[in-house]
Amino acid sequence: MNKIRIAIVGLGKIARDQHIPSIAASDEFELAAIASPHHTLEGIPCYRSIEDLLRHERDIDAVALCTTPQVRYETARRALAQGCHVLLEKPPGVTLGEVRALTDLAEQASVALFASWHSRFAAAVEPARAWLATRKIASVSVTWKENVRVWHPGQNWIWKGGGLGVFDPGINALSIHTRILPGALVLREAELSYPANCETPIAARLLLVDSLDTPIRVELDFRQVGPQSWDIDIDTDAGRLLLSMGGSVMRIKDDVTPLVQTTEYPLLYAHFATLVRARRIDVDLAPFQLVADALLCGRHVSVERFDE
Ligand code: NAP
Repeated sequence: MNKIRIAIVGLGKIARDQHIPSIAASDEFELAAIASPHHTLEGIPCYRSIEDLLRHERDIDAVALCTTPQVRYETARRALAQGCHVLLEKPPGVTLGEVRALTDLAEQASVALFASWHSRFAAAVEPARAWLATRKIASVSVTWKENVRVWHPGQNWIWKGGGLGVFDPGINALSIHTRILPGALVLREAELSYPANCETPIAARLLLVDSLDTPIRVELDFRQVGPQSWDIDIDTDAGRLLLSMGGSVMRIKDDVTPLVQTTEYPLLYAHFATLVRARRIDVDLAPFQLVADALLCGRHVSVERFDE
């Protein structure tokens, strides 16, 4: 079978850290071109924009959109119009409407569209989902606290509308628990902390419930110094399940469950290859919907300005 000729759009941190190595290690994909306004990659044809790339590289099969979220929709629209399969980094756009429009366009063009949630490919996510399927859940507590200065230096787009602020990492937690908890989750309350000089929140507290009114408390904070936490703690009738390290470690009643340790992005690309070969769409808006709902109805609290 021919390799899928893929282009990366947006040569920033995640493209370099994860997409380029995952494509290089894959039997399914071949990196054919890059489009990025200010960066290039030696040995690969590089363009300043997706328009230039699509004009010159007529035999691209797929694009991975690793840009800032604010330009995701326009770049995706152009790629879909040219019949390319599209992988959207998370978040898949800046509004739910954008992503629904992209889904319609992909359907009309009969191409694959993948709204990727990389954290769902963490090693403990599917084992946790299977374990929880037969348990009664009493409560869930999500703690996602990291230091934005360490993990997102210089990424000013996070603080602009559509950049999501603390929901940029927080949506990873939401992508895991919308996968492992059965049934739809509904937002009941949200408190969002906005620095005086930012358009997006630096911290958030959410209360979600499932259909049985089980409380799911979510605490997100971008100001964490010292130990960082990416934990989901679930109290069940069969004891406590703790997912830590962003979903890569699982403890049941304090015992670590042995897991095959995998890295997320190679699995994400393997799934994308399956979608491309079958021309299928995989767009689950549940994590993004919860963020949108929090931004719609959350109580705003003003906190001190944030300067990097
Ligand atoms: P980043 O380092 O700021 O990179 C974003 C890149 O987007 C920049 O390099 C920029 O290219 C490019 N870009 C902006 N406008 C563009 C346009 N019109 N056409 C083409 N490229 C454009 O950000 P990042 O950390 O890689 O994050 C990118 C996305 O990946 C975000 O949605 C983020 O949530 C997601 N993500 C990030 C991580 C992480 O660990 N950083 C993990 C998972 C997912 P130039 O530099 O050439 O201007």
